[in-house]
Amino acid sequence: MFDRDTDVAATGGYHITLDERAQSALRRLVAPEIMRRLLASSSALRLRDRDMFWDYRGRVLGHGPDLSGSASIDVDRITLRTLLAEAAGEDLHLGRAVSGIAVDEHGMPRVMFADGTSVTADLVVGADGTHSVVARYLAAGPTSHPAGIIGFSGRTPRAGLTAAERHRLGTRSSMAIGPRGAALYVGFLDPVGNAALDAPELSTSITTGPTYIWGAMFPESARTDFLRDLHGTALRTALLDRFREHRWAGHTLEVIARTDPGSVAAFRFNAASTRAADLTPWAAGRITALGDAVHATPPTAGMGAGAAIQDAADLLAQLDGTTAITDAIGRYEAQLRQRGGEVLTAAMKTVRLILATDTTLGAVATAALSPVVAAATRLRRSQK
Ligand SMILES: Cc1cc2nc3c(=O)[nH]c(=O)nc-3n(C[C@H](O)[C@H](O)[C@H](O)COP(=O)(O)OP(=O)(O)OC[C@H]3O[C@@H](n4cnc5c(N)ncnc54)[C@H](O)[C@@H]3O)c2cc1C
Repeated sequence: MFDRDTDVAATGGYHITLDERAQSALRRLVAPEIMRRLLASSSALRLRDRDMFWDYRGRVLGHGPDLSGSASIDVDRITLRTLLAEAAGEDLHLGRAVSGIAVDEHGMPRVMFADGTSVTADLVVGADGTHSVVARYLAAGPTSHPAGIIGFSGRTPRAGLTAAERHRLGTRSSMAIGPRGAALYVGFLDPVGNAALDAPELSTSITTGPTYIWGAMFPESARTDFLRDLHGTALRTALLDRFREHRWAGHTLEVIARTDPGSVAAFRFNAASTRAADLTPWAAGRITALGDAVHATPPTAGMGAGAAIQDAADLLAQLDGTTAITDAIGRYEAQLRQRGGEVLTAAMKTVRLILATDTTLGAVATAALSPVVAAATRLRRSQK
């Protein structure tokens, strides 16, 4: 296992949702002790309130499903990567950037590294993310494209908000979409109070108290390009200005205004095709790939990392040693395509909804319909 990163903890400060299928796949890949530590470091969705949908003025538009029976967990990406690196142990070689792939005269794959070294292997699996060198080699081109949205994330301790905003946001995740494609997701993470496994002695969570992890999203355009060059306080201020320009109510922006400026970061949404048939445009062989390398998934469905973990478990199950590698990879890639198509279809629904509000008609409709839907929601609640 080779990774270009030199420090597994040097990654985005946001969180990852792992549903039941992702956890059951992970159980097949790591030791029970790692699984227990992961659960002890995770926030259980079943312990938080129902998700809420808001409009840009802070009016309730609707609720998400009842989560009381949910097995899903949220975990800091840093915590997850650290535990996975521990599970890999000495097999993980950090600081090794892959620069190219080749096949030798015997048909065996060769991986070249930026430091000039190379290795030959029976099977190469590219788990190298959205801009995968391995998948690009296989597909003879990029496997994903910018989805048209630019995102920014940050972390805000719940205790840092006013009592009114703490009450409004509650112990739940929220999503608000306004005119012109401005959207704000606010995730709630509490791996201590809402631990999926009550074993604090096993917890390695980097989040130590109730925290909102927000994601601001805008359609990518010449007007948003400059945001990418900003950092810290300047980026936070520019994001707030952008929401205010679109007339978002002041209190809905408190979660950004009171965020730790050091936690604010930009990320670009990339997406592969939603059509399963498009996802592995190569013949099955001794080089394959998994996760975002094949089905780069915007974070809007919270399924990308879970899908990558399930890919890895499926691959291992197919490589049972009794069939030829090419046949095993063929079967694995059929599963990979199906799952990739499903997660991309789910994630692109929200992306398309956000982009639809960035038309003149969409902006007018969002502004006009939001109060109507909010009033209908209030009426429904008062009748219960
Ligand atoms: C803000 C945000 C929130 C998200 N929230 C969720 C969520 O709630 N749930 C969810 O399931 N998913 C979520 N995702 C998506 C999720 O992070 C990705 O889908 C997931 O990480 C993909 O896993 P992967 O292993 O395929 O790729 P990555 O996690 O991108 O890992 C790729 C690895 O390959 C290494 N690498 C890359 N290139 C090279 C190279 N040339 N040589 C050597 N190593 C290389 C990188 O260092 C990295 O370690 C979110 C994404 C974002 C941006």
